[in-house]
Amino acid sequence: MNWYPDAIRKPLTADKDRQALTVHNRVNLHIAVSESESLYSFFNQRGIADSHFYVRRDGKVEQYVSTSMRAYADLEGNDATISIETQGFGGGTWTVEQRESLARIYAWAVRTHDVARKLATDSKVGDSSKGLSWHRLGIDGNFPALPSIRAGRLQRGGGMHYSTSTGKACPGDDRIPQIPMIFERAMDILNGSTTITEENSFMADLTEKQQTEIYQDTTEKVYDAATDQWDTQAEAQRKTNVLLRRVLANQVADQAAPTVDVDADAVAEALLTKLTPAVAQGVADALAARLAD
Ligand SMILES: [Zn+2]
Repeated sequence: MNWYPDAIRKPLTADKDRQALTVHNRVNLHIAVSESESLYSFFNQRGIADSHFYVRRDGKVEQYVSTSMRAYADLEGNDATISIETQGFGGGTWTVEQRESLARIYAWAVRTHDVARKLATDSKVGDSSKGLSWHRLGIDGNFPALPSIRAGRLQRGGGMHYSTSTGKACPGDDRIPQIPMIFERAMDILNGSTTITEENSFMADLTEKQQTEIYQDTTEKVYDAATDQWDTQAEAQRKTNVLLRRVLANQVADQAAPTVDVDADAVAEALLTKLTPAVAQGVADALAARLAD
């Protein structure tokens, strides 16, 4: 039996002749089209399709079915899908809390069931339907064509039906574009990132001096590929100015040198009204060099 540790555990007891789930190819995201705090009593009836998880707007998670057993939210995908229903109607987006919980459940599914670390791109049997997935990938309807992420089963060249309905919006036009964000967040979690709150408390454990040093190390250095060194912001800015000055100066000098007899000081003086002193001086220097050639 597999239960997500951060879920409120509410095992369904209704007899639904449930089979084992032994292959975990994908996590499918859904919208419940309900504002209910829980789908437990609705799901706990014979003959009603159900999902493994439900994520409320506030991010709280309920789990109804062990992920070692099949749920019924994804029709032809039921034999290899972990399903997550979410609180909300067809329109609208997932809250920050819902996205965080969805990322965590998917990351847990990757660790626990070795679900592929990738976004599914359709519902076809095989690799392309594995990973983090969503209901519309297996729903027929008049959806936008590829490369829109809102494309449905038909626009993506067929595959398994995850629903018998046509045109069902699940998980919704404005939520589907949030899925790549959820995926990225899950990858961060799998790579060891903790929550923002935990990061804050980690920082709070350090002295002010340590915090300042970390801040400076991570924000104030700029990599210079030419010298293979990390420069301070000020040094990087100075180098950039020198470079800009050289480029500008050479452009002006190229245009001016062949045609006119230039008084470099006068040019510098004139340029000062339009350019910074450093750039104006650079132009004058470059001109003087060209004229001396
Ligand atoms: Zn759905």
